[in-house]
Amino acid sequence: MQQEALKHRLDAHLHLQTIPWNSCFNDLPGRDLIKSFLVKGSQSICNGTSPLDWELVASLTKLYPEELVPFYGVHPWYVDALPENWLYNLESCLVDSHAGLGEIGLDRACSSKASFDHQQDVFTAQLDLAVSLNLPVSLHCVRSWGVLLEILQDKILIKIADDKYSRIPVMIHSFSGSLETMKQLIDIGVYISFSPYLLSLQAEILREVFKAVPLERILIESDFSYRKNISINNQIIDYKRNLKSLYNMAGSLRDMSPAYFQEVVYKNGKVFTDRAINR
Ligand SMILES: [Zn+2]
Repeated sequence: MQQEALKHRLDAHLHLQTIPWNSCFNDLPGRDLIKSFLVKGSQSICNGTSPLDWELVASLTKLYPEELVPFYGVHPWYVDALPENWLYNLESCLVDSHAGLGEIGLDRACSSKASFDHQQDVFTAQLDLAVSLNLPVSLHCVRSWGVLLEILQDKILIKIADDKYSRIPVMIHSFSGSLETMKQLIDIGVYISFSPYLLSLQAEILREVFKAVPLERILIESDFSYRKNISINNQIIDYKRNLKSLYNMAGSLRDMSPAYFQEVVYKNGKVFTDRAINR
């Protein structure tokens, strides 16, 4: 059972493209380095953040098409430096590949020069694209829940028949909102992804929120990004340990064995990974 569960592990949100390849080659050859973040049969969603890293995401995910699912998008931190044709280029990335849209979102705490209005424009343009291409979406939201909920209410609907509507799959990554916000998001069909922050001492309230999320809407993620000044070998060890601890703690908070909980989350993630892959 343990063996089976390890084969089916989802990492719903990471940024493997942030590893600086050239300087890490001394530790491990490039392919082995990426492979050490993956488990055979597992799936991880690798999120782009701006036109500058989309090509890296594409080449990485082509190396491991079974284990890595590419998402392309413009993160709210990077909306101020976009080339004129960014939306056209984004559409080309999405149309030509089995991909989802992300990481996109809203962040009132971000120090970028761009105004919040501009963030919203870039965000809604990308959501419109996701709806027109029927893509799954990965969202970042900090101190902008009211605006986000308002936008999602009417922006993620797709028409499936004359008077029938469905919604594109949307996840909030590294959720840190309140119980009330979580419930409002659940009501409009959103999935809630939890990062290793759930393990921290300060996350007491968040753990209560986690316990109240409907099981079929829970996702789990590492939120991995390469950190300078820490050896890549130590980061690989941390990555594996954090994700394992997170699954263990999250499973026990839901009174489930880690192995069973891991299976449930993996299946939940299929809405995002299969939808991206099988288009
Ligand atoms: Zn991210």
